[in-house]
Amino acid sequence: MIKKRQRTRAVKIGGLTVGGANLIRVQSMCNTDTADIKATVKQIHSLENAGCEIIRVAVKDIESARLLAEIKKKINIPLVADIHFDWRLAVEAAKHVDKIRINPGNIGCKENVAKVVKACQKRNIPIRIGVNSGSLKALKKIKGRPKWSAHRWAEIMVKEALDEISVLERMKFKDILVSLKADDIERTILANKIFSSKSKIPLHLGITEAGSFLSGTVKSSMGLGMLLNEGIGDTIRVSLTEDPVVQVRAAYEILKALKLRQFGPEIISCPTCGRCQVNIAKVVKKLEEKIYSDSKLFKLAEGKKIAIMGCIVNGPGEARDADFGIAGGKGAGIWIEKGRRVKTVKESQWLTEIIKKIKKG
Ligand code: SF4
Repeated sequence: MIKKRQRTRAVKIGGLTVGGANLIRVQSMCNTDTADIKATVKQIHSLENAGCEIIRVAVKDIESARLLAEIKKKINIPLVADIHFDWRLAVEAAKHVDKIRINPGNIGCKENVAKVVKACQKRNIPIRIGVNSGSLKALKKIKGRPKWSAHRWAEIMVKEALDEISVLERMKFKDILVSLKADDIERTILANKIFSSKSKIPLHLGITEAGSFLSGTVKSSMGLGMLLNEGIGDTIRVSLTEDPVVQVRAAYEILKALKLRQFGPEIISCPTCGRCQVNIAKVVKKLEEKIYSDSKLFKLAEGKKIAIMGCIVNGPGEARDADFGIAGGKGAGIWIEKGRRVKTVKESQWLTEIIKKIKKG
């Protein structure tokens, strides 16, 4: 059973509040060149349509930092500037965005962090301290790969986050979020568990550099799923070597599977076997494409459990828990509603019938 959500401090990011009792929010990051405003804004718009609620962009030079002002004007979700190495970029970006993400391992000395804090205080915007296991300050003292246990890695990650927090808090800065990410599930889970036992600061979850679509989604689902199951996490990102829109879809699927968020329908379909005489994969793909490309239909389908099953032997039984769906046969299928067999529908009419039903409610 999913544990009660750990109550963190609420923090405002633009028009959105995260942490506390607020919904677990879905974030992503653009993979465009931030200075290419047209491409970046276009990608953010498609991410907004996909349900992304907070968007982060990489700020690699002062030009990109200045251009954030233009991007901010053209988008509808909170904009986050991701800064590495150069505190001056953070100070410029803080004039335009809704949140700054810095990595304490590479932003430099405490004096530099203090300058970033001052810039954020001026506009009342939060800072996310993003601790990644690959860029810890502690690693600078070590040649090659450290021989630390997962627990030791996690403790060091937490220590570096807490050290940074104390710098910010000494400056009376409280609008802080933290992420503790590794490409290793065990380290990520341990670090977040240790941190949440010590602090009420909201946590952004992610398995960093998780990998390609399949391996990255599995890794992220396992890592984030285990933490969310413990009631830990206020925002999430699924980092895949993929289109960010796919990352957003994957994030919602994790939250949906744990019943932490509703997002469109739940489409259940069988893996097919020798009994199946229909191309179920094609039907499911087409149905998803239709629903996810039509915002009205998407909204109407919200929370509905739709079953697409490959045969009438096991299909009707497996679809019993669905609101409605089809159990396929050769050229036709049985229409099922709340466990009852209602009628026969020609294979060519399946999609039309499902969409009609979604619209009817
Ligand atoms: S529902 Fe039918 S076709 Fe699908 S896996 Fe089960 S037995 Fe096979």
